[in-house]
Amino acid sequence: MFESLTDRLNQVFTQLRRRGKLSEADVDAALREVRLALLDADVHYSVVKKFTAGVRERAVGAEVSRALNPAQQVIKIVHEELISTLGEPERLNLTGEKPRVIMLVGLQGSGKTTAAAKLARLLRSQGERVLLAAADPYRPAAVQQLVTLGGTVGVEVFTDSRLNPPELVQKAYEQGIKGGYSILIADTAGRSQMDDTLMDELKAITRKVKPADILLVVDSMVGQEALHIAEGFRDTVTLTGLILTKMDGDARGGAAISIRSVTGVPIKFLGVGEGIDALEVYDPRRLASRILG
Ligand code: GDP
Repeated sequence: MFESLTDRLNQVFTQLRRRGKLSEADVDAALREVRLALLDADVHYSVVKKFTAGVRERAVGAEVSRALNPAQQVIKIVHEELISTLGEPERLNLTGEKPRVIMLVGLQGSGKTTAAAKLARLLRSQGERVLLAAADPYRPAAVQQLVTLGGTVGVEVFTDSRLNPPELVQKAYEQGIKGGYSILIADTAGRSQMDDTLMDELKAITRKVKPADILLVVDSMVGQEALHIAEGFRDTVTLTGLILTKMDGDARGGAAISIRSVTGVPIKFLGVGEGIDALEVYDPRRLASRILG
């Protein structure tokens, strides 16, 4: 496990007595720890640099408030900067013509199929009529997995092994209209890497059904690679949000900071376990606290 940033900063400042303002030397000593902690949390190097520069600007010369010691003061500034970098929560785009299409994209193993079912469960609990589309015909096991998960959460799953993914999503959409569904969640094919075939297919789906939301599912354990993945998908489709999965593991969420900071795509949900209810609506304050440890 990582040593928490809070502990690290407390160690840096342990020799210092409370004083009126944070000096440049104090701040630089603290920022070395902040930098290491963020790199440990797999935040991309370029983002770490920009972030610490922002903190430095705010911290040097800042008054240490009476209630806090210097370490706490720096932690407060880092926390606030983190929240600002992570961005405010943005909701799903649920109003408008029905069914609203939510398309999930991502690499194989990212937790996309699980996230589709978790999201279906969440939206159903909010009174939506949800239909799932299993648009991953290359992997029969994925279709079966979604059918099973759909059964668990009480949501119907549209499948048809004869159709290619764009046709399948189109048919599911028609079914959604006929059946009076308010939301269609499309679980698209995942591959082990981003290739032209996958990207062409995703584009073809968006041409057919015009999704209200396109959510990228990223495994938080992939570390620095997460930024590369997000940039690759963003260049193909208009991402409206991010679902960061496996946040219950050792990963501290550095991927969230990198992706949000570089691509501007807002984080919408966190996957926090294998269970079907292990989906959190993103909250920047809670995530910043987790990253700081
Ligand atoms: P897909 O290939 O992207 O559709 O990925 P899956 O949905 O099949 O998930 C891959 C594996 O990750 C499965 O074993 C899931 O149970 C697991 N998984 C998905 N989301 C989470 C999560 O938030 N936390 C944990 N611990 N495991 C997850």
